[in-house]
Amino acid sequence: MIIAIDGPAASGKGTLARRLATHFGLPHLDTGLLYRATARALLDHGHDLSDRAAAVSAARSLALTDFDEAGLRSRDMAEAASVVAAIPEVRAALVDMQRRFAGRQGGALLDGRDIGTVICPDAACKIFVTASDEARATRRALELRGRGEKVDYGAVLEDIRKRDLRDSSRAAAPLRPAADAVVLDTTKLDVEAAFKAALVIVESAQNSLRAGHPAY
Ligand code: C5P
Repeated sequence: MIIAIDGPAASGKGTLARRLATHFGLPHLDTGLLYRATARALLDHGHDLSDRAAAVSAARSLALTDFDEAGLRSRDMAEAASVVAAIPEVRAALVDMQRRFAGRQGGALLDGRDIGTVICPDAACKIFVTASDEARATRRALELRGRGEKVDYGAVLEDIRKRDLRDSSRAAAPLRPAADAVVLDTTKLDVEAAFKAALVIVESAQNSLRAGHPAY
């Protein structure tokens, strides 16, 4: 079964995706890393983030095993990723890689912004994870501090609002829930409660799949 998890920045979808993938024994692709790694490669080679040709070439050269995750998780890389992710040709260059991953025998779990809408429109289970801006900023600030970045809550709140606006207003594959996604609001849920709620959604999709009809 393919599980598609989408949602805005710091909604908790990454943590949820990792836990669900482990629980169901599915390979997991965090597709945000593809855009972060594309931005990193551009900057490392001295290109501007708006250099379309260089961005497409960087995206085409990516391999799924390339990622130095720690180096890609910074605030700066999140912002840079969102800039290159708005370039339609960059998105197009990354589609096949994501669909090949999703097409693995036995299924896969992918998380990102456009998995349920563009990459895997036929996924059996789609969850759109969201939370209030304030809850997301609090979580992201804690996470970045845990990684040693000096961050201020107000600046993080501003960052994620700016990034969400760019991600949801771009023309190519904007951030939005698929029509058949279940929206999971984690504002008032801790990690455990969010996982339990997601399990109910996935199990219901599994049952519908077994019964031969789509869940939602
Ligand atoms: O999920 P993460 O915060 O790592 O994503 C970084 C950026 O990559 C997002 O803000 C978004 O612009 C872009 N992205 C995307 N489509 C995806 C995954 C990430 O546009 N499927």
